[in-house]
Amino acid sequence: HLSARDGYAPLNSDFDNFYIRRLQLRINDCFRRPITGVPGRFITLLDRKSDDFNLSFKMTGTTTETLNMSSYNYLGFAQSEGECADAVEVATKKYGVSFASPRGDAGTSELHVEVENLVAKFVGKESAMIFSMGFGTNATTFPALVGKGCLIISDELNHSSIRFGARLSGAVIEMFKHNNINDLERVLRERISQGQPRTHRPWKKILVAVEGLYSMEGTMCNLPEIVALKRKYKFNLFVDEAHSIGALGMQGRGICDYFGIDPAEVDILMGTFTKSFGANGGYVAGDKALIDKLRVTNAGTLFGEAPSPPVLVQISSALRLIIGEIAPGQGQERLERLAFNSRYLRLGLKRLGFIIYGHDDSPIIPLLLYNPAKIPAFSHEMLKRKIAVVVVGYPATPLISSRARFCVSAAHTKDDLDRLLAACDQAGDILQLKFSSGIAGGK
Ligand code: PMP
Repeated sequence: HLSARDGYAPLNSDFDNFYIRRLQLRINDCFRRPITGVPGRFITLLDRKSDDFNLSFKMTGTTTETLNMSSYNYLGFAQSEGECADAVEVATKKYGVSFASPRGDAGTSELHVEVENLVAKFVGKESAMIFSMGFGTNATTFPALVGKGCLIISDELNHSSIRFGARLSGAVIEMFKHNNINDLERVLRERISQGQPRTHRPWKKILVAVEGLYSMEGTMCNLPEIVALKRKYKFNLFVDEAHSIGALGMQGRGICDYFGIDPAEVDILMGTFTKSFGANGGYVAGDKALIDKLRVTNAGTLFGEAPSPPVLVQISSALRLIIGEIAPGQGQERLERLAFNSRYLRLGLKRLGFIIYGHDDSPIIPLLLYNPAKIPAFSHEMLKRKIAVVVVGYPATPLISSRARFCVSAAHTKDDLDRLLAACDQAGDILQLKFSSGIAGGK
């Protein structure tokens, strides 16, 4: 029998954390519930037993259909019908579901080459490389780009996968305040020269990492100002477009498209297929020489399985729809619907008097709950009205800026958003969430 007296610690001995054990397990009315179909405009959740707060879910057999404000289904491509689904069905018949080999062995198919070419063209880069996991794209790409003796300068709110990859790389990591261009310049000034003459740089390479659209804040990076700093301080720039690709810009080509910036200004454009494309995996795009280097230095793709056939066909079909190669007009319509829905919901929530974070054009809309005690209450009020929302609190946000986060989709109708606004209006009164009497012109 092993005991602490022998110096033995079981693997879960450090799991005994207040937030995980007491709070997190109880807050999620909608989440950690298995879903029973496509996470589209609606999402069907398996019901919990009222006393069942465990992470290991017990099946109850009954379900609740809810309006889905929680999935990153920006363009409505998470679906089981339509052009993408039809093409996926055909491809699965032809290729099966796995190539059963890493890319470098027998795992590169015509589908991989096709998707890489489509992605490169879509984002405006010479070359692209795809990965079977978005998180793994960052986790394995940073160590392949930089290492000891290099400097990574990272926005303090960058996604966990960027932080993970940055730490794994062995480079020195410096953070700057979220979206604060003055603070970024301060770090550059202090770290680049480090008291040495400007011509001497104590770093092999310098990589600045930001996101196009931040998923907890709904904020966009200020790309024009970052590009101006890049000209001045001569660093490499990495932009994670997980939430901006397909979701921002007149053509859905992301943050460069949105700001009218030449993609050549960004060294690495990274993104995922799990949001706007309704698929799986991620990509990095850049100059051919850089991507060629990554093909032979990225451990994740060298030694891991490549994306599977149905996933690849979902991506290529969604891309073709966006650029109008399939069903001309449909892709543009989805982009316009998303842009309209994002602004409509944001404005509606502001009119009701809620405090909303983020950019006016962001399809991610965080509604501030502040007090952590209101997290489960808000989630519960929404679920009572058959609406699924993500609620977020510490440690993903500071303790007193708990929030609910709505993800707008092109699949939502105006009626759906009106239904959500009515539910928020009621929940806002019950939970005292309205912090002003609404913006001018509101009700
Ligand atoms: N980067 C960012 C900015 C993300 O938000 C996410 C996931 N939400 C990822 C990378 C990881 O992508 P995936 O979920 O496709 O693994």
